[in-house]
Amino acid sequence: MNILSVASEVYPLVKTGGLADVVGALPAALVPHGVRTRTLVPGYPPVLKKLKKKKAVGGFDNLFGHPATVLSAEVNGVDLLVLDQPALYARDGGPYIDSTGRDYPDNFRRFAALSLAAAEIAGNGIISNWKPDIVHVHDWQTALTPVYMRFGPAPDLPTVMTIHNIAFQGQFGASVFPELALPPDAFSTQFVEYYGDVGFLKGGLQTASAITTVSPSYAQEILTPEFGMGLDGLLASRVADLTGIVNGIDGDAWDPQTDPHIPAHYGPGTLKRRAGNRRALEERFGLEKGPGPIFCVISRLTWQKGMDLVAEAADDIVALGGKLVVLGSGDPALESALMAAASRHRGHIGMVTGYDEPLSHLMQAGADAILIPSRFEPCGLTQLYGLRYGCVPVVARTGGLTDTIIDANEAALSAKCATGFHFLPVTTDGLRLAIRRVLRAYNEPKLWARLQNQGMKSDVSWAKSAERYVSLYSALLAKG
Ligand code: ADP
Repeated sequence: MNILSVASEVYPLVKTGGLADVVGALPAALVPHGVRTRTLVPGYPPVLKKLKKKKAVGGFDNLFGHPATVLSAEVNGVDLLVLDQPALYARDGGPYIDSTGRDYPDNFRRFAALSLAAAEIAGNGIISNWKPDIVHVHDWQTALTPVYMRFGPAPDLPTVMTIHNIAFQGQFGASVFPELALPPDAFSTQFVEYYGDVGFLKGGLQTASAITTVSPSYAQEILTPEFGMGLDGLLASRVADLTGIVNGIDGDAWDPQTDPHIPAHYGPGTLKRRAGNRRALEERFGLEKGPGPIFCVISRLTWQKGMDLVAEAADDIVALGGKLVVLGSGDPALESALMAAASRHRGHIGMVTGYDEPLSHLMQAGADAILIPSRFEPCGLTQLYGLRYGCVPVVARTGGLTDTIIDANEAALSAKCATGFHFLPVTTDGLRLAIRRVLRAYNEPKLWARLQNQGMKSDVSWAKSAERYVSLYSALLAKG
């Protein structure tokens, strides 16, 4: 089975969040099932720079007014197709925003081009001797692919649209529609018209053969007005085609026994060795040495992620004898609130702003617990890394956090299956209460070690989820 996967980011070439991790790791997990994936991504400068052996395998004379080449290369075992189109992708700044933090004004064109290129590869044999059996697209940036396929080169080829976060929808003014090279019929509620605007994600959800999201709980939640962000009605009409499949993690990149980013390697039987990582973490964040749990946060600093709750509960953590280390960037107001907490509690709270992959590994390996107070969370990956690293997850009971962490309540403790702490409501007081529960458990070393060990034994691999994707792909092909 051949899959064309289409995405705007892929680990390790370009990553702003969990989407990249998923797109980078899923293909390898599908290989044992006889599924071969090629992943199409834009040729941003950092992507092109990291390609070693690349080969032009196709191209376009005029894709949205500019020539483009499709390059083929392999990175970390991922079979990549890279859309090299300097007019749209050769920019300073990130994949979506410029160096001053503003969205590129032509994002609609940049990602329509990616989607159209995917549709042409799928249906028009742009790459010689290769066509996919199924096209799998991720998030709004690639959501026009099934729309282009429907109106053009591959109306009957099955498509899967995965929602990694329904909050990001790719909504643009109706004035962009004439530039999208779609027929006038496409500007209707059946396709991309969305409250008078153009909705990329909306178009994808209307036209894809199947819709998935990244956890069963989030699949339920997005059917409600509270979490559906305007798309709950549409999703309800497609509920028969909607499934939730939880993400796994890349077990090679995230393995505390071999991780190159941590000074002390350890496993389930050798948790004591984590002490070496704790020391390195204390030094890195300028923490005083001493007892008590170290909480960590590795996150985009946004309202979604509940970072205001962390800023508000920070004083409590310190008052109760804990410490806190934060790595993240995002909303300037949240950044300053957390910085202010760090300067109020020097030696007890440390903060690094920015994006730092190696440091995120050290934090999971050296801290005792990871705080994830998200207001909504489609799947979440940092709690899965926490499980693997014996860094006990403390999570809001929402979305994928509910599905992947087992709360340390009486029943779960006696059944020896608890792996972390849930809290609800998702408020500062809810979080404060959870922190108190963590402190009590931490002060019982045997209980704490059991939580860590049970977490480390949880299956966070892609194996089971890969099987579910394979079943979905097979069902679509069987439908013909
Ligand atoms: P989302 O995709 O919504 O941001 P996820 O939990 O699914 O949230 O994935 C976030 C990914 O980004 C994880 O791999 C996490 O370790 C990583 N990450 C988030 N912020 C940072 C940061 N400041 N530095 C390094 N890695 C980060």
